[in-house]
Amino acid sequence: MKRKLKQLQDVPFIPEVQKRIDKNTVYYTAGKDCEIIRLHKTDIFIKDGDTITLNSGGYQTKKTKSRINKAFEMFDYPDWSIESDRGVWILYNSKTGKEFIFYDRMRLKYVKGDFKSLNASEAPTKKQLIELRNDVSKYSKTFIEKLMNDEIPRPNAGHCWYCNFFLHESSQHILSHVREPYYVPTLLYNSVFDNHLCTLNNEIKRFLLYKLKMLQSDKINDNEQALFDFFNISDSVPKYLESNLRKFVYRKLSMPI
Ligand SMILES: [Zn+2]
Repeated sequence: MKRKLKQLQDVPFIPEVQKRIDKNTVYYTAGKDCEIIRLHKTDIFIKDGDTITLNSGGYQTKKTKSRINKAFEMFDYPDWSIESDRGVWILYNSKTGKEFIFYDRMRLKYVKGDFKSLNASEAPTKKQLIELRNDVSKYSKTFIEKLMNDEIPRPNAGHCWYCNFFLHESSQHILSHVREPYYVPTLLYNSVFDNHLCTLNNEIKRFLLYKLKMLQSDKINDNEQALFDFFNISDSVPKYLESNLRKFVYRKLSMPI
């Protein structure tokens, strides 16, 4: 118990009572009226009197959604839950149909049985979020098509120093790649080799390494060529790479995967 209390010292609350309520999920109290649900290292649901703050910590996953929804039940806000609409999270009231676009650190006040947003002006619109998802999808598709057709520019022309040096790309930077659009090998490399959520098999990884090596050098030795000839590239390979890249970008943009 002592060790867990120490872990929580980086939050602006001094935890008092705490108990584990689910896997990787802790309930704790701080101050007079403050109750908090923490998933891993993120305070996903803070209830401070009549005000609640929701935060995915950048992980808009099914698990986060389910834990936030459990908190709505636990704190007795019937009818309210986070739902996914075309890949966009909304806070939805099943009785009245009222909805708020979800975004990290959204704050709401519960007044006379209804929520009112305290920082709605910071929220993007649903239309913007759906368009962005479509842009990411298109970007990933084109990226892999270009890779398969050997149309990705060589690193000297298509180099991005930022992607090269910062494995934890900022959302703004990733967004600039999507918007421009700008296809750099390092970004694709990071989506596979510096992405702990990547589930691609070793064969696909080897194929990608070969492709990236081709981009860096004309000199592929006989062994490498033999290895590459050994590959039977099925249609599923580009499909997997595309889906992995898309998820990587969604994740970097804190969007549902
Ligand atoms: Zn970059």
